[in-house]
Parts: sequence; C-alpha cells; structure tokens
Amino acid sequence: MSVPVIELNSGRAIPQLGFGVYKVEPGDTERVVTDALEVGYRHIDTASMYGNEVGVGAAIAASGIPRDEIFVTTKLLNADHGARSTIEGFERSLEALGLEHVDLYLIHWPCPERGLYVESWLSMEGLFADGRARSIGVSNFLPHHLRAVTDAATVVPAVNQIELHPYYQQREADSFGREQGIVTEAWSPLGRGSLVDDPGVEAIAGANGKTLAQVILRWHIQRGFVVIPKSVRRERMAENLDIFDFELTDAEVGIISALDRGGRLGSHPDEVT
Ligand code: NAD
Repeated sequence: MSVPVIELNSGRAIPQLGFGVYKVEPGDTERVVTDALEVGYRHIDTASMYGNEVGVGAAIAASGIPRDEIFVTTKLLNADHGARSTIEGFERSLEALGLEHVDLYLIHWPCPERGLYVESWLSMEGLFADGRARSIGVSNFLPHHLRAVTDAATVVPAVNQIELHPYYQQREADSFGREQGIVTEAWSPLGRGSLVDDPGVEAIAGANGKTLAQVILRWHIQRGFVVIPKSVRRERMAENLDIFDFELTDAEVGIISALDRGGRLGSHPDEVT
C-alpha cells in the first residue's frame, strides 16, 4: 500500500507519512535511515539541531534511490536566525546532507526573544525562488507567529510542523493554519510513545486487528495531518508504515479525538530561545 501525498501551496506534494530522526545518535543515523528507506519510507525529517544530517545524507546516497523519490526536510538552527545567517545555515545543512536541494526547509522555532523570524522567513523566500528549497515552512508557530509572517510575506508557509497527538491536538493552531492554506504536520505523533498504553485506544486496536501505534497514526492520517513517527527499531518502522490497509470509523476517530487533555510534552514556542 503506498503512502498518500498531500498537495502543498508550493505546488509540490508531501508524503503524508514520513520518518523522524530526532534523538537518533549521529553514529547510528546512517544505519537507522538505511533501515527506514529499505522498509519503504520515502520522507525523512531531520534538522540542523539534531546533528545527524550527515548520516541522513549518507543513507540517501548509499540507497541508490533516485533523489526525486525521497522527500527530505531539514530545519533552521535557532542560532542562525537573521537575514544572512539563515542562508549560511541553510547552506551548511545542504553540505552536511550532500544534497543540492531540500524538499522542505522549516524555521525550527520562532524564538520570539531573538525577534528575527520574519527576517529569516524573507531570506527563505529567496531559497524557495532559486529552487534550493522546493517548499518552505515553519515549525512550532502559534497563530500570532503565523500572522506576523503572513503579514510580511510574499510566500505563505507550506507547512507548520507542531507538537500534535491525541493528548494535545492544538486545534487553534491547526485551524488557523488551514484557513491560510498551511498544512499541519504532527511532531511526536505518538506522544513520544506515551499513547501506546492508552486503554481507550486499546479497544479500537483490538477491533481493527492493529497495534495501538498503528491506530494512533491512522487517526492522524484520517484527520489530514502529515505524521513523522520515529523508531530506531526496524520492526517498529515497518509497523508504523503499515497503516494504509484499514480505516477507522467516524465513531473511532471521535473516541480518539476526545482524548485531548491540552498539555504539551515539549517546550512552549514563546519560551524557546
Ligand atoms: P514519537 O511520537 O514519534 O515517539 C517516538 C517514540 O515512540 C519512540 O522513541 C519509541 O519509544 C515509541 N514508538 C515508536 N513506534 C512505536 C511502536 N510502533 N510501538 C510502540 N512504541 C513506539 O516522538 P518523537 O520522536 O519526539 O517525534 C517524531 C519526530 O518528530 C522526530 O523524530 C522529529 O523528526 C520530529 N520532531 C520535531 C520537533 C520540532 O520541534 N519540529 C520536535 C520533536 C520532534
């Protein structure tokens, strides 16, 4: 079963399920991403902050898979905010990845204390125009950050990648983004693994002959989010990809949607410096 794609406002398409490499050790990354590509992932999510772009690039190069069949996302380091340093940071990422372009380049955090995310965005519009970033977007942006960008921008972000899972659904950021044509991408889609013990999800998993992780990822897909689960274990990588041969009923989607309890696991976007 192939992974569906979602059309972006850039005219490009993003595979709705990808593979995240946050906290994958640099020395393990080539092996982990090689496994992910072998298992069938064609969308890899990394960041300059993760320190593992070199391993991601090495796995892609060694795979022999044509470049245009793999969707690669990386992200701007917080310390690289600013007009010129955004371009320099991007170029360091390209070099580490060994690529001539990325498919999606994101501002990793708005870092409002730095006060430079709009400047960074305007530089990224240049990277989009010259084709080195096929799509550009943001991450961890709340509606007030998105508004500041769209007020100044020519290009509307294609994606906002935010913490999103059944326990923390960020309905306001999601619906504000959707109104602007911005696709919501869910980081920590499994709540960093905390959701795979939820008793409410267990019954739904049993009824569908699927695991809890599969049911949660399927909920994301049916809600229209892009998801990027992470696992360093090959059998879990395969499990997390095997979610396109069943469908949750509307009632099952509703039960999972009712698990929202409003607490984030990660940092508050206004507090990251
Ligand atoms: P996740 O929700 O994907 O959870 C990963 C953890 O869940 C794994 O470490 C493992 O313990 C467990 N798990 C995975 N598959 C499982 C399975 N099938 N069964 C049981 N347990 C399973 O959390 P994450 O890694 O924090 O997020 C995923 C990706 O999102 C990251 O790798 C990264 O690419 C991205 N991310 C982005 C930001 C950002 O600020 N933009 C922040 C955090 C993460």
